[in-house]
Formats: sequence, C-alpha cells, structure tokens
Amino acid sequence: MAPLPPGSILGILGGGQLGRYMAIVAQQRGYQVATLDPEPNAPAHQVSHHPIAAPYDDPSALDRLAGLCQAVTFEFENVPATSLEPFAAHGVAIRPGPKALATCQDRILEKTLINACGISTAPWRPILTESDIQPALESLGGSGILKTARSGYDGKGQGRVDSLTSAREAFARFGSVACVLEGIVPFAMECSVLAARDVQGDCSTYPVCENSHSHHILDITLCPARVPDQAAAAMREQTVRIARELEYVGHLAVEFFVLPDGAVLVNEIAPRPHNSGHLTIDTALHSQFEEHVLCVLGWPVRPYLPIHPASAMANLLGDGWSRGEPRWQELSRFPDVRLHLYGKESARPGRKMGHLTSWATTVEGAEALVREARTALFGG
Ligand code: ADP
Ligand code: MG
Repeated sequence: MAPLPPGSILGILGGGQLGRYMAIVAQQRGYQVATLDPEPNAPAHQVSHHPIAAPYDDPSALDRLAGLCQAVTFEFENVPATSLEPFAAHGVAIRPGPKALATCQDRILEKTLINACGISTAPWRPILTESDIQPALESLGGSGILKTARSGYDGKGQGRVDSLTSAREAFARFGSVACVLEGIVPFAMECSVLAARDVQGDCSTYPVCENSHSHHILDITLCPARVPDQAAAAMREQTVRIARELEYVGHLAVEFFVLPDGAVLVNEIAPRPHNSGHLTIDTALHSQFEEHVLCVLGWPVRPYLPIHPASAMANLLGDGWSRGEPRWQELSRFPDVRLHLYGKESARPGRKMGHLTSWATTVEGAEALVREARTALFGG
C-alpha cells in the first residue's frame, strides 16, 4: 500500500505536547494536521491547520475530524472505542489500530497479552470485586501496588497497599472500579524501549533508555541505559514481539523493570510516543515523532539510530516556576543543551512545561550537563 501523499490531512486526538510534536513533523513533510482537544489554546492547537476545540466524545466534532482527515492517530491511550466509530465509517486509516488501543487502555488486557507472548511482568491479579482482594493479596505475600485497570498515568490511580484494610480502602477510594494488584518489584533500574512498526510489519527499536522518576513522574532519561548487553537485547526483542502481537502501526514505548540479576520484566506499554523518547528529537537520526507520524501515514520504518554516543533528557515541571520565571539566559553557558517548551500558559506543580536535552561522549557526561543546566535555570 502506498503512503498517503503529502497534502493529506493527519487527524490527531489530543492536543498536548505529544500531539504538538506530531503536528510539527507532519508539517515538515508537507502534510496538514487537524487536532481535537477540549482546551482552545492546547499546545497542538497552536500549531494546527484545523484546531477543533471540543471534548473527545463530542459526536459532531469527531464527525468533522473524521470528514477532514485521511489517517488518524492519538497522543493518549484512553480513547473511548465509540470515538473511533466515525473514523471507521469515513474510511479513515486508524493507526495504531483498535486492537492496540483497546489492549493498552486496560491493564488487565495488556498484562494478559504480554504474558500470552511468553513475556514476564510483575506478578499480578485482576481485582474486579472486593472479594478478589484477600486471596490476591495473600498470594502476593501481603503487599502490593493496586492500580486502576483504566485511565491511570503519572502514578495517578495507583497506591501501595500492605494490609487487607489498606487494600480495601484503596479499592474504595478508586471507586471500586476494575483494578490490578501487582507484586512490588525490587528493581535495580527502570528502562524503556522506543520502537516504530510500519504497515508492512517491519519494526525498528532504539537503544534502551534508562529512566528515573520523581514523585511518579519521569524526571531524567539517559541513553544508552547502563545495563548488561544481554538485558538490553532481551528488552528490544520483547518489544518487537509485543508490537507484532498488537498488530501495531506507529511508535510505541515499552517500560521495563530491570532486576539486580539482569532479568527484565515488562511494566507497561505506551501506544504512542513517550516522554522518555523526547531525547530523540535532538539526538537521533529520526525522532520518535517522525517515526510515529511517518509509519501512521504509511511510510516504511527507517533505522532508528542515535547520532551521539550518549544523550540525556531532563523534564521541566511547573514546580520550577515557583520562584518566578526561569533564568533562560543561563542556557547560553550550555551549548550542548537544548531547551524545549510546549507553549503552556500556567505552570502548575507537576505539569510538564518542557524539557532539556543534552549530548556528550558518555552517559555520565550527558547527565551532568542536563542536570547543571536545569539547576542553573531554576536556581539551586
Ligand atoms: P503510570 O501509568 O502512572 O506510568 P506505572 O505502572 O508505570 O504507571 O507506574 C508508575 C511508576 O510506579 C513506575 O514507573 C515505577 O516507578 C512504580 N511502580 C509501578 N509498578 C510497580 C511495581 N509493581 N513494583 C515497583 N514499582 C512500581
Ligand atoms: Mg508508566
């Protein structure tokens, strides 16, 4: 099947920073974009040919978007299945497809698919009703992490539980919706594999990224991850297998836990570009957004390669604005650090406002640079 010709319109559900970068790279290739997000000044609407400010389940807005675009993609996985119907009715290419979206928006379906591929996750049990809690907790040794099956992100919709009482309280607090209870993994490191898969089924993966979180939000990504070669190869191979099983088209990221002995467990799948892939914008031959958009538009996947020996990314959260405007002029001291801002107006704590990328000959060097630059911006 031939790629959609330049001039075609790509529909994007979601207008945050991921949608914004998708829009920018689509436009660099001569495509137009139409974006749907309820917020009129959303980051992606600011750079869109056809911004549609309406809720994601607004039938007339979905119908308008479906009538405009030839392919549609998503910056988040919580797309209601009914929101896809107008696109199917208009013959729009939905990429990634309904199977990948349905699976990745539900932790029970997601973990079931991963395990069915013969790939390990943390031990987990489905919790559909309160009566499931006690046997699940006992089988996991009395403690775990309760996560809502749907709609969680950045640590929202999850809590650590260490007794039947605390587990029941957490389940009630989440509204008694379907959950999973996971065993706590004593990981040595968290990693992610960025991958792109095209309509022909060819898949490329990027060297493994090493991630550290702060308050459940990604803080720093380093690439390549400092893991044994065997662990890195296993993570990349498992990611390709998962993408194949999902019949995936576009870019995805798989999050992993690496155990102290080098064994790897899949944590979760992000069926879209991922925060840990932001360093590819400045330090890869093709960024995760180019890989995503071009695969969605029907182009063959290209080799997914870094152009520097090592790179790092530091998120800039709204917290950094608490003492006023960051000291942007400080960045002139860091020629190997690049600033990205997403065009968000209000800098609330925990809100992703932008990020810094750095590159160097070693991971340690890249990390030191990006941390120093962030400290200089926000004050020590
Ligand atoms: P989110 O959708 O919020 O990213 P995750 O399942 O990735 O949800 O969990 C967020 C973070 O919480 C993980 O990156 C990890 O640091 C920690 N975490 C999640 N599950 C476990 C687990 N089973 N054991 C240990 N830590 C975990
Ligand atoms: Mg996660």
